[in-house]
Amino acid sequence: MLTIFQLFAVRTEASQLRLLIGAPGEYMLKPMVEYIEARGGRLHLRRGVRALACRIDENSGQERVFGVHIRQSASMPLGDESTTTFVPADLVVAAVDVPGIQRLIPETWCEQHPYFANIMRLETVPVITVQLRFDGWVTELADGAPHTGQARGLDNLLYSADADFSCFADLAVTSPVDYYRPGQGSLLQCVITPAEPYLRLVDAEIVGRTCAQVYELFPSARNLRCIWSNVVKLGQSLYREKPGADRFRPSQRSPIGNLYLAGSYTQQDYIDSQEGAVRSGRLAALAIVEDLLDLLSDPSVKHPIEPAPPSSASAREFI
Ligand SMILES: Cc1cc2nc3c(=O)[nH]c(=O)nc-3n(C[C@H](O)[C@H](O)[C@H](O)COP(=O)(O)OP(=O)(O)OC[C@H]3O[C@@H](n4cnc5c(N)ncnc54)[C@H](O)[C@@H]3O)c2cc1C
Repeated sequence: MLTIFQLFAVRTEASQLRLLIGAPGEYMLKPMVEYIEARGGRLHLRRGVRALACRIDENSGQERVFGVHIRQSASMPLGDESTTTFVPADLVVAAVDVPGIQRLIPETWCEQHPYFANIMRLETVPVITVQLRFDGWVTELADGAPHTGQARGLDNLLYSADADFSCFADLAVTSPVDYYRPGQGSLLQCVITPAEPYLRLVDAEIVGRTCAQVYELFPSARNLRCIWSNVVKLGQSLYREKPGADRFRPSQRSPIGNLYLAGSYTQQDYIDSQEGAVRSGRLAALAIVEDLLDLLSDPSVKHPIEPAPPSSASAREFI
């Protein structure tokens, strides 16, 4: 909380909070997918990278990644590692989360490079998302406002230091296209983090505690009933921001010549957020362009990598 508000205080553009009008899949991810596919990219969804394929490059004598092994089909059970498909690659960007990159790094790299050993030292925090549907408007502060049949309340992402959920929003108000239901009320989404004390609790207990804190924050909502709830527990989520941990965060350029990392846990000047993830992606793209330009202008390199022609679909795989 302190980090966020300190940032908002010094960078005025950083304090603008916005929510999508509906579900992220439709309003954020779909346009990205369309953008990529329109430019010849191919997406392998739900195929998960199981391993990076590496070998020593004959020209440089350095280890390089020459592809990735992905699950053969999205319908295969997650635990079944027996069959994978190989996808060749000139260059790999691992834009995964902390548990994801820790699973992909081979042990030998950690022995050879402090860069990778440091990544293994990064920790994550558990996060629990609690959704509560009420039969009225929780964050509606104007007493006696007439019933208009519209969602009513605070139309923004909200923060509180007085509840275990540090961050919450009424999705029926902020993102009404998908979450407003005629005849029903607020859909509060409350994010509990760090959520260690809640992990061992059963869902009913988590819902009860969250509801009680909602009523504390909004006494005018005490006469409302919670009519539906949902709890999602993530044991390993965002990287843990603890004293001394920042130095273990990797830069986007890795010691493996053609492997780059992105993700909000990598070094970037923003908090672990969607904005931070985007910034890390831009830094990874910058590192790639710089390295390719260096390579192409180096006369000692026998077989410089030629940029793929724009029409080549197989040159851009997203997994
Ligand atoms: C409950 C909750 C609420 C949040 N609310 C906000 C908010 O309101 N605003 C905000 O800005 N940020 C919010 N955040 C933080 C934000 O979601 C993250 O900072 C952001 O998503 C990080 O983006 P990323 O691309 O680095 O990683 P992620 O979004 O975690 O994406 C990494 C992806 O890599 C995948 N992956 C891992 N291993 C592999 C593999 N081997 N092969 C293929 N895929 C793999 C993972 O499944 C995951 O989908 C919230 C986070 C949580 C948990």
